[in-house]
Amino acid sequence: MTTAPAHKIKDLPPDWAKSARAALVARVAAEAHALAALERALRHQVHQLAVQFAQVHATDRRRAADTAVGLLSRALDRMRPALANATFVGRAATRHASLIRFRAEWQIVRADVDALGLEPPADLPHLALHGPEDQAQSNLAGQSLAAAWGHQVIAAVYRWAAKDDGALVDAVLSSEAATAPRLGRVASTETSRAFTDARDEGMGWAAAEYGDSTWFPGLFKRWDATLDKRVCRVCEDLDAKVALYGADFEDGAEPGYVHVSCRCVVSTVFLPVFVPAEETVPAHDVDDESPRTPDEYFNDQPSDDEPT
Ligand SMILES: [Zn+2]
Repeated sequence: MTTAPAHKIKDLPPDWAKSARAALVARVAAEAHALAALERALRHQVHQLAVQFAQVHATDRRRAADTAVGLLSRALDRMRPALANATFVGRAATRHASLIRFRAEWQIVRADVDALGLEPPADLPHLALHGPEDQAQSNLAGQSLAAAWGHQVIAAVYRWAAKDDGALVDAVLSSEAATAPRLGRVASTETSRAFTDARDEGMGWAAAEYGDSTWFPGLFKRWDATLDKRVCRVCEDLDAKVALYGADFEDGAEPGYVHVSCRCVVSTVFLPVFVPAEETVPAHDVDDESPRTPDEYFNDQPSDDEPT
């Protein structure tokens, strides 16, 4: 069996390039959806607490602050599951988006295998929209976001108590904006992770079903980083790297898991040059003496033994 090429596939054929871009776009849309769910949950709970704060007698500010903070404990009991549920909803939407992309990529795989004159794989079955990690990850996110929000409320309440103007209710209302950046980080991080988690399960299905097929060694996963001004050096370097289905990327790194707010996703690419020659690939595509690398294959560079 051919081993995975240890380099990057920068120049993808048109169908695969389009598909890789679509995966990144799908991730962005899923992140916006996840963030909106978190914002709605936060706003709803903040406003519930604001209603209670509005009823606190504020003549003695210090005592009013203590009363307000006492109300926070029950509010946190509501905030944790509300934010966990919003994270869970975001993860499910992301898994859905990820599997839609996988389904589209799988169609190209089927067509490419068919074009090699081999029997193409079956269409993708229905894959689960929830994985075992979704609930645990969502609960953790809900707990940490609620705790961060609670700290914001306490700080704002005692800042209010130390002043002699302003309304107590503003202390809780200001906590919404103060917590917003954390929501953004959770939405971004959980979206990328859920995207990869769902994709892993799809690739697991493909490996279980077709791992023994002659064309399977041509199937790779590709690392797609979001190459904008915000991309970090690590993710930028990982971009376009490929690994065999079922194998790890370099050093076991996973798209979405490199750091908080990692915006990397994984997409599929089929490299017929790695399909065993005697079975499938036209003779001119594989030269056993000096096999071309996938980069050469895609860039269609002339090899040494060809006249130029
Ligand atoms: Zn990344």
